[in-house]
Amino acid sequence: MPRLDKVALVTGSSKGIGRAIAIKLAKDGFDLVINYRSNGDVAREVGLLCESFGVKVLVVKADVTRPDEVEAMMSQVIEEFGKLDVLVNNAGITKDSLVLRMSLEDFTQVVDANLNSAFNCSKEAVKYMMKKRSGSIVNITSIVGLRGNAGQVNYSASKAGLIGMTKSLAKEFASRSIRVNAVAPGFIETDMTGKLKDDVIEELKKSIPLKRLGNVEDIANMVSFLAKDDSSYITGQVISVDGGMNI
Ligand code: NAP
Repeated sequence: MPRLDKVALVTGSSKGIGRAIAIKLAKDGFDLVINYRSNGDVAREVGLLCESFGVKVLVVKADVTRPDEVEAMMSQVIEEFGKLDVLVNNAGITKDSLVLRMSLEDFTQVVDANLNSAFNCSKEAVKYMMKKRSGSIVNITSIVGLRGNAGQVNYSASKAGLIGMTKSLAKEFASRSIRVNAVAPGFIETDMTGKLKDDVIEELKKSIPLKRLGNVEDIANMVSFLAKDDSSYITGQVISVDGGMNI
């Protein structure tokens, strides 16, 4: 694909779903900002892969739970590209346990990583999108944010919060032509689900109408659609990509 002259930032794009989203957007012609927190070598490899599709790439280390680091990252983006067209709030963590064993710290850390991070990044991004009167924000929530899950009170609360944030931001910025949508993955094969035991995975597959876990490209394809003008009349929506789990 030829370069689109559009810039997309994907948080937590050094691996997993974020990595696949970055690669798909690069294939589609977006210039890319790869964000990582800990592993620079892996993030730079993703950057090189994206560059091989003929787009410009910036790799930035920033902990998206920290407003100061997010602000510095956005300044770098604007210095390099002069604008930001697409923000994908993908960075996220889990710290699962039943609520009686869950510490307040484990609750807060997950909400901070999955929800407050999206607040920090969206707040910075809309400053630049408003000037251009266009933009697309895609939040990666989860089926668990729609349905709840035992052992994931922290994670499901953060992901349900992200859905509320998506709808409110969509209403707040529609008049500036900034669209805000969410993708709710079901169970996708990544390091995050790699922590689950084999017998749990087999039971899970039985409960999925399409009888398989999703792959990272299933999510990347939907994010790409929401990032591009193909979806220009869609805002405030939560789209499940879950093999039919949420029917
Ligand atoms: P993953 O493989 O664990 O990758 C998570 C990414 O987020 C990593 O690159 C990680 O970087 C980054 N990250 C975490 N905290 C960060 C922070 N504070 N600042 C910057 N980057 C940070 O997870 P995944 O499975 O790809 O999940 C990606 C997103 O999809 C998450 O929001 C997750 O909740 C959501 N999701 C996943 C599934 C699934 O089945 N896998 C289902 C529903 C929703 P470091 O490695 O450097 O920490």
